[in-house]
Amino acid sequence: MNTASRRSFLGAGLALPALSSVRTETAPAPEPVSLQSPPKLVYGTLGKSGLKVTRVAFGCMTTSDPSVIERAADLGINLFDSARVYQGGNNERMVGSALKKYRDKVYITSKTQARTGQQAMADLETSLKELQTDHLDIWYLHSRSNLSDVNDELLQAQVNAKKQGKIRLAGVSFHGGHTEVIPGFQKMNHFDVFLISYNYAMGHTIDPLIEQARKAGIGIVAMKGLAGGVRPTVRSYVIPPEKLNLLNQEGAPVAALKWVLNNKFVDTVIPSIVDMDQLDQNILAMSSPFSAREAKLLAARLEEIKPWYCRMCGSCEGQCQKGLPVADMLRFTMYAENYGQYSLGLDNYRSLPEGITSVRCADCSSCTVECPNGVQVAARLTRAQELFG
Ligand code: SF4
Ligand code: SF4
Repeated sequence: MNTASRRSFLGAGLALPALSSVRTETAPAPEPVSLQSPPKLVYGTLGKSGLKVTRVAFGCMTTSDPSVIERAADLGINLFDSARVYQGGNNERMVGSALKKYRDKVYITSKTQARTGQQAMADLETSLKELQTDHLDIWYLHSRSNLSDVNDELLQAQVNAKKQGKIRLAGVSFHGGHTEVIPGFQKMNHFDVFLISYNYAMGHTIDPLIEQARKAGIGIVAMKGLAGGVRPTVRSYVIPPEKLNLLNQEGAPVAALKWVLNNKFVDTVIPSIVDMDQLDQNILAMSSPFSAREAKLLAARLEEIKPWYCRMCGSCEGQCQKGLPVADMLRFTMYAENYGQYSLGLDNYRSLPEGITSVRCADCSSCTVECPNGVQVAARLTRAQELFG
């Protein structure tokens, strides 16, 4: 069923199965979701801030259709995440417009990639204008996977913004480097919220660090919860369509979100959502606990995604003989290939130094990078160089 027909079905007040109508016998049975029969919402508390947020929130990075955001707000989802850089700056504008009439019922977050305090404050002013609001509920320093990515100027910018009432909470986001940055950022005694890559492919290795941070009063928001973001509606270059469809019909996205929420120290997860079906799927992750059958499903899926999914564990840091930032480049490729966000991948790739973007893995006689998790690094980076180079 396409989005339009799905919407009119909901408009008529009828319950609709939230997952594909074609499913295997072993598929977890989904709850029907409709506006007349509201879905189950479960809340987490963002650390000592006390903000109550739905445990499944809304990642707006890949969303283009404002009606999906509006429907999420109607259903009670109350945390919406954007960033200055998403969709070349257009994402905040769309999100601000969609959420204008809901502003007093929802929390809005955004992020800056600025490296100086002045630039960060300029970004904040633009974010506020585009999002049509006088404050952000969380303002993140974006993508800081090394402690050195945060400096005193940026911290001061967050302090000043708080004093001026332009932000409620100061956050920091990071894709990798967890073992260094979680305790390091915690020790700074500055941040209210961490936005952390966290999913079943990463396993439980960082759980003690998450627990420690959460117990210290820091709110924990998870991103990359779907381990690659592969959905039936997104073209994938790396998994054959028939296999992809099977994996999704079996409820893998819901299972992946449940895996994240199974950690009680994670307050909420912000999966990217592009359409009504994905919205319905994600909401289901709050309806029942993670089951043994879903654990089996994710174990099978992990085998499938191994050759291409980088869990950003950091084990290969510094191994490339030509100095390539392997995990970052694999992430940019994932944005293009698995999220359907080519320009996001390209913009990130272009932000790398020329000495990095000019390297071609095809020129290496052998690859010095060994991934203990099975990622075919040289092949995937060759793909990145073809896509963006
Ligand atoms: S390529 Fe492998 S070793 Fe390197 S960060 Fe990714 S998962 Fe870890
Ligand atoms: S093949 Fe690519 S990733 Fe491997 S060592 Fe050479 S440049 Fe680095």
